[in-house]
Amino acid sequence: MPTPRPRPETRADEFRRRSFPGTSVEEWDDWRWQLRNRIKDLAGLERTLVLSDSERAAVVRLGDRLPVGITPYYAALLDAQDPDDPLRKTMVPVLGEFDQSPEEAADPLNEDGHMPVPGLVHRYPDRVLFLVTSFCATYCRYCTRSRLVGTTGEYHFNHEQYQRAIDYIAVNDEIRDVLISGGDPLTMQDGRIEWLLERLRAIPHVEFVRLGTKVPAVLPQRITPELCTMLRRFHPLWLSVHFMHPSELTPEVERACNMLADAGIPLGSQTVLMRDVNDDPDTMKLLMHGLLKMRVRPYYIYQCDPIPGSKHFRAPVQKGVEIIKALRGHTTGYAVPDFVIDAPGGGGKVPIGPETIVGRADGSLLIRNFEGDIYKYPDPLPEEQVR
Ligand SMILES: *Cc1c(COP(=O)(O)O)cnc(C)c1O
Repeated sequence: MPTPRPRPETRADEFRRRSFPGTSVEEWDDWRWQLRNRIKDLAGLERTLVLSDSERAAVVRLGDRLPVGITPYYAALLDAQDPDDPLRKTMVPVLGEFDQSPEEAADPLNEDGHMPVPGLVHRYPDRVLFLVTSFCATYCRYCTRSRLVGTTGEYHFNHEQYQRAIDYIAVNDEIRDVLISGGDPLTMQDGRIEWLLERLRAIPHVEFVRLGTKVPAVLPQRITPELCTMLRRFHPLWLSVHFMHPSELTPEVERACNMLADAGIPLGSQTVLMRDVNDDPDTMKLLMHGLLKMRVRPYYIYQCDPIPGSKHFRAPVQKGVEIIKALRGHTTGYAVPDFVIDAPGGGGKVPIGPETIVGRADGSLLIRNFEGDIYKYPDPLPEEQVR
């Protein structure tokens, strides 16, 4: 049941009356209504946005590539007039998506090469990435898994495939951490999520379970009291939430994050560095501060993976380093995520940061602080110690 109103008027209310006339607040607040009424085609986009030539041409040409999919709630956050609006760039394709550069690949992290069973990526010895659906509430144009989301593809996200993955985890007792992702696991029915969590929790060596999701940001209506009551039975359960920009931090999202945090679920954020979307220190700082206020601890900023047609999205790595430099020491330590490159070919996440070790002198390590000053820390090397 949707939670009772009244509540303050939001940006989404105005959008609902304009673009979805006749839709009640109760329908709008129902996550299933949101999914059924996703904007998926040219007609839907034209109904809510004034499209540029490049956007229109890209949608017409899309074919079997990563589909368009935007919840009405999230569409309300896009600027209807301006194709350069940051969130709009993450959702609406442009012709740049059709320019494939030689360094790009459909599976840049070689996830398919690290799958002992379909849908289960075992790259790090102690933890696995468990893909449980190819469906998302919204499709991000820069998606690292654009090869498999939004399509039926070669994976079969059914009980038989789940059972094979669970059996693999059960017999490999070095696996202590399971990351459930997809697609977006929180788009599944409560019962299906519960089925998975019950079976994972029954494996004694699985200490830590987390869900990777963008749902709290793009479909906050999905975070219901019933979902929270179910999830909290499976503690310790953590959530990694995908956020891109401070304009996502609406009252609806705040409510969703508060409900999850009140259910005792620690929340972390993951953000993809994207050109002209969030690749400047001020935007990132606003985002990280806003997340802290919603009890979300910034976890990772990712360098954009080189998927096909992503060149127009990818900011130079140096931008990410500058952002970390502008955050570390200049704001709350909790507001500073790690900036990482997921190494192409499957090397895992590699943290990239400003150089803080300057060198050595007289048994000391020379370190650079956030203001650029050099400090000495007494740290004799083992051979200096014996002298
Ligand atoms: C990101 C990732 C994980 C989790 O890594 P953490 O650094 O623990 O968050 C696990 N497996 C794969 C394949 C991943 O890409």
